[in-house]
Amino acid sequence: MVSAFQQFLMCFAFLLVAAYLVPAGILHWIVHVRPTAEIEAARLQSRRPRRSDVVREVRQSLVALVLFAAYCVPLFWAYEAGLTAVYWDVSSYPLWWLPVSVVVAAVFHDTWFYWTHRVMHLPSVFRFMHAGHHRSITPTPWAILSFDPLETVPQFAFFAVLIWLVPMHPAALFAYLMFDGLVNAAGHSGHELVSRSIRQNPRLWFLAAVVHHDLHHTRFNHNFGQYFTVWDRLMGTHLDPAANAGTMVRDPEVTKQPAT
Ligand SMILES: [Zn+2]
Ligand SMILES: [Zn+2]
Repeated sequence: MVSAFQQFLMCFAFLLVAAYLVPAGILHWIVHVRPTAEIEAARLQSRRPRRSDVVREVRQSLVALVLFAAYCVPLFWAYEAGLTAVYWDVSSYPLWWLPVSVVVAAVFHDTWFYWTHRVMHLPSVFRFMHAGHHRSITPTPWAILSFDPLETVPQFAFFAVLIWLVPMHPAALFAYLMFDGLVNAAGHSGHELVSRSIRQNPRLWFLAAVVHHDLHHTRFNHNFGQYFTVWDRLMGTHLDPAANAGTMVRDPEVTKQPAT
């Protein structure tokens, strides 16, 4: 019989590695440890992150991971009680559902993230829920889980609602978790890692590049989406990175967090 504390420790170890160290470590290695001339040319801001920025990002992420692991325990109980849609037998659903369920998770997550993110930018909410994440003006991959304790609630709630509503095989769920971590780490890497051919393809207008979230960290009230620009375009919050065309590297135009 595994105690609740043991479940907490297992969740913490799993999330620490799969949701933080692996995605943030890979992107850190790409942009900071072994940056090629091409990567260096893709740097988005002239400002460089300070060591104190990284220390703060890691510290806030570790606190968030402890909270995520704590939330995992009742979620695991719900799973054991049959209250989630998770399935182990791949024949329970058509095989095509495995990859499609990952796409569904991404679309659902983008919508969830856009709207919870907008709420967190309301001045009365921002201060105690989202300001911690925005202390990173020039984010690094270590900022992916750098949240105020209260922000962990909507961030985790997405995954709880996802496995409650959407039938997902654990392999698809794990694939999505890794995909989400890597995209998120790229989005905080400070370097445009999406190729020009993808960014300038008019058919892929709906995809967000790294610069979108990077601009969110310096301009605050634009580009709230995660993977896509659809909600931002619909709601008038899209800031077109083409406005920053010319040179890739720009000075962050830091503004105080105003009303949304
Ligand atoms: Zn924000
Ligand atoms: Zn961010």
